[in-house]
Amino acid sequence: MPLSPEQQAEIDALRASPQPTLRAVAPGMEKHLYTARPVLDHGFVRVIDYMGDDAAICQAARVSYGKGTKSVQNDEGLIRYLMRHWHSTPFEMCELKLHVKLPVFVARQWIRHRTANVNEYSARYSILDREFYIPAPEHINAQSEVNNQGRGDVLQGEEAARVLEILKADSARCYDNYEAMISGDGQAGLARELARMNLPANIYTQWYWKVDLHNLFHFLRLRADAHAQYEIRVYADAICEMVADWVPAAYGAFEDYRMGAVTMSSQMVECLRRMLKGEAVTKENSGMSAREWREFEEVIA
Ligand SMILES: Cc1cc2nc3c(=O)[nH]c(=O)nc-3n(C[C@H](O)[C@H](O)[C@H](O)COP(=O)(O)OP(=O)(O)OC[C@H]3O[C@@H](n4cnc5c(N)ncnc54)[C@H](O)[C@@H]3O)c2cc1C
Repeated sequence: MPLSPEQQAEIDALRASPQPTLRAVAPGMEKHLYTARPVLDHGFVRVIDYMGDDAAICQAARVSYGKGTKSVQNDEGLIRYLMRHWHSTPFEMCELKLHVKLPVFVARQWIRHRTANVNEYSARYSILDREFYIPAPEHINAQSEVNNQGRGDVLQGEEAARVLEILKADSARCYDNYEAMISGDGQAGLARELARMNLPANIYTQWYWKVDLHNLFHFLRLRADAHAQYEIRVYADAICEMVADWVPAAYGAFEDYRMGAVTMSSQMVECLRRMLKGEAVTKENSGMSAREWREFEEVIA
């Protein structure tokens, strides 16, 4: 269970005491505030705070004294123009602060995104909970034979059971030893900052993560993508849904001009032009490497 009854009570109390404000409020995001959205077996994402909305992007772009909005169509058109032409700074005017609970091996991928502010739960100060990510059976896969950085078929039967058993037993044994090492019961006990080193990478950690919308879109483009590992993708997917409710016009532009868009090299563009003229373009006469040609075929298929 991602949240204890005490944590849930704290969230309920926060949601029960709304404050009047002169700040911009995004109605779609209010419903997400404080609420923990479950991800994986023990993880969650919850919105702690946000700043700005679609109008704030237009306000900044127009450097306006007032709200900066014109008509809804005008604003949406401006946002789409900004996104299409990589005018990124107006998107930096919106901010999102999240509380995330995630396995350590996912956190290692996530932390590579340097353009955010992070504060992580201290395992020097506190004792980590006995919570480990154990994949659901449909997410226990063999190594992919075509992609060194990916998964193949789902493991079945005895092989799946064998792997699951190892994962569970190792997690339990390591945590038992962690507890035994920090125990002060009649012994000195090892410091928490040292005892944690035998814990496996599937143990859960937590952090506050604050990022502006431009850099959040960059994170989401990379981590909500099919090439990202499933265990980080599910977090990115959950955040995508929140962002779609928060800044619907900006999210729509992001879907069209980032997620759904492709980048073509000059060779690819040239090949496409030749094809449109009716020329038979092949890998051999394309001027591209085998890999780039494969990527080109994926785009035009
Ligand atoms: C599918 C996938 C596979 C990956 N595989 C690997 C891997 O095998 N090994 C590995 O090490 N990493 C891997 N990564 C991580 C990847 O290389 C990036 O580190 C990560 O995606 C963060 O991207 P970023 O640096 O653009 O993001 P951020 O750190 O958020 O930066 C955003 C942008 O800000 C600018 N920026 C930020 N900091 C600096 C700086 N110090 N100097 C200059 N410009 C800066 C850059 O333009 C950058 O694109 C993988 C990522 C993905 C999505």
